[in-house]
Amino acid sequence: MKTVTDYFGDLVFDDRVMKATLSAKVYSSLRKTIDEGCELDISVANAVATAMKDWAISKGATHFTHWFQPLTGITAEKHDSFITPSPDGGVIMEFSGKELIKGEPDASSFPNGGLRATFEARGYTAWDPTSYAFIKDNSLCIPTAFCSYGGYALDKKTPLLRSMEALSRQAIRILRLFGNDSAKCVRSSVGPEQEYFLIDKEMYDQRPDLCFTGRTLFGAKPPKGQEMDDHYFGVIKPRVAAYMEELNEELWKLGILAKTEHNEVAPAQHELAPIYTTTNIATDHNQLTMEIMQKIAAKHGLVCLLHEKPFAGVNGSGKHNNWSISTDKGQNLLSPGETPYENAQFLLFLCAVIKAVDDYQDLLRISVATAGNDHRLGANEAPPAVVSIFLGDELNAVLEAIENDTPYQGAKKTKMKLGVDVLPKFNRDNTDRNRTSPFAFTGNKFEFRMLGSSNSIACANIMLNSAVAESLKIYADRLEQAQDFETALHEMIRKTIKDHKHIIFNGNGYDDNWIKEATEKRGLINYRTTVDCMPHLLDEKNVKMLTGQGVFSIAELQSRCDIMLDNYCKSVIIEANTMVTMAKTQIAPAVESYAAHVADAAISKKALDANLACSYETNLVRTLSTLTDTIAAKVNLLNEALRSLETAEDIFAESFLIRDHVLGLMNELRAACDEAETLTAKSYWPFPTYADLLFGVK
Ligand code: ADP
Ligand code: MG
Repeated sequence: MKTVTDYFGDLVFDDRVMKATLSAKVYSSLRKTIDEGCELDISVANAVATAMKDWAISKGATHFTHWFQPLTGITAEKHDSFITPSPDGGVIMEFSGKELIKGEPDASSFPNGGLRATFEARGYTAWDPTSYAFIKDNSLCIPTAFCSYGGYALDKKTPLLRSMEALSRQAIRILRLFGNDSAKCVRSSVGPEQEYFLIDKEMYDQRPDLCFTGRTLFGAKPPKGQEMDDHYFGVIKPRVAAYMEELNEELWKLGILAKTEHNEVAPAQHELAPIYTTTNIATDHNQLTMEIMQKIAAKHGLVCLLHEKPFAGVNGSGKHNNWSISTDKGQNLLSPGETPYENAQFLLFLCAVIKAVDDYQDLLRISVATAGNDHRLGANEAPPAVVSIFLGDELNAVLEAIENDTPYQGAKKTKMKLGVDVLPKFNRDNTDRNRTSPFAFTGNKFEFRMLGSSNSIACANIMLNSAVAESLKIYADRLEQAQDFETALHEMIRKTIKDHKHIIFNGNGYDDNWIKEATEKRGLINYRTTVDCMPHLLDEKNVKMLTGQGVFSIAELQSRCDIMLDNYCKSVIIEANTMVTMAKTQIAPAVESYAAHVADAAISKKALDANLACSYETNLVRTLSTLTDTIAAKVNLLNEALRSLETAEDIFAESFLIRDHVLGLMNELRAACDEAETLTAKSYWPFPTYADLLFGVK
């Protein structure tokens, strides 16, 4: 039997394959491109392309595709076969360096938010050699960035790579000031923990809401939800275990470091976490993971739901973005070190993150904003929509000591200016308070917990990298000019703590009092919905920072704001239309039939004995009849609200109408239908209930 070590990365053109298939010269020049971003000349590209093609064909591949991440949030691919006709009527298999480096998919059908002027419909994809090529479904997939011919990014990867470069540039300046001359670059790494639901495919197929929108739009609360806490870390059911086993195998073949799997809090909810890796690779891997999760589920008669809130009343699904920064030599800059200098450096990077998160709370909120995630953030399960940082008691005490110029009690003192020569190793604070925080320090990394389960992790990391790069830039500008480095450093750390401590919150993030304190006393931002936060992407300070760091141009930001709002509106409109259809064609008729059945029962009984009161039947028919009237009325109102969207002036106006009218009417329609469900015989109900869906996989 093949063991994991035998087949791990089997479908990846990784370093092992490169070494084995490329000449020493080609290999070293490719490595230089990968590690240092050096330009690749066409002869090297040709040699790499040939080796890739031969390797791919030996693994059964017939096609190649540039694999990219347009702003739809999912990945895109367009397959070309390797075949080229030969004069003798047969074919030969060809793949050139040019085809490897650049592709020209038609960009016109991808969202571009007005970036692609009509005279320039074409876009192009450009190879990202830092993420290995891989084979999927008999196609050699080449990870690429996607741009318009005008040079505008039409994807999530381009700005992500730019943000990683910005972070590296500024972090290196800081490291040089601390006397580190050996690090060539600094990289951010991410380990995304992915939550998901698994439900039975046959049941899924009977629910138009799940099929069209990925979440249930109706469904009365089942007798049992997650109140017993008996699912979290519970024994994995055999069908789910078989699924996880095959999923792991497929991910491992693709070189994805799937590591941890367990049941989550809600019934039918699970989690998968890989070992962390460089951010752009982690992003590619997470996209692939989500795709493979769904594909393998289908093979097991299951459906993997990645929606943030598939079921009301039980937890939704998020994605924890574990983020750290380290040098190419492997030094984690968020890990306290052994020497006073290393510790001062750690504190400076820590402060850079604190400042970044405070200065750009809004961008972090924006980076996770979708219609789906709006149901989750602040719903007493996920972190609130208010961004704050959890540091834990120990680290907090260190910062307080610095701020007040008092000695830190926990450390042995051989005083340098900072007063914290020897920092303790910060064990992760694993208290409940930590888990409720949107942004928690967990020992040597930060865990950003606001991402929705279906989000690409690119957006959050673009903002995080850029904001931290900006703090570091401000620090470096100042420190490079300082006469006395140590004094300037000390002052800067103190000032950061003073100016930004209002973002630090070590209490319970689910507490209602916290939201009050955060917004009223501390002045933190609370953007509850996508519609509230998204326009702030274009606030002057945000545009200034993101363009200044070279991550986005103004046009790219405007287009992204439009696309995100458009996406929000479309998602909700599809949901509303699905509700209308289900209410009219499934729910109302079912309630009607059942009411008729109950009425018939009363009539039959009365025929037997005219003195029977039949008050049960009469009352029930009355109640059901009132409910069908309500359902019909709500459907009409919702339809009207949907029609009113057509006259909205622009996407902003449309999104406001949705937030203020459509969503409320959807809730009202749902309430009437859910009540009807509790009164209607199960045999009459037109689709599987919450109890069926949540407890149906054995
Ligand atoms: P949990 O949060 O579920 O208790 P862990 O903290 O052990 O789990 O790990 C969560 C994720 O954090 C994993 O994907 C892991 O690889 C990742 N991780 C661990 N160390 C780092 C680091 N230095 N940088 C980024 N991610 C990390
Ligand atoms: Mg976690």
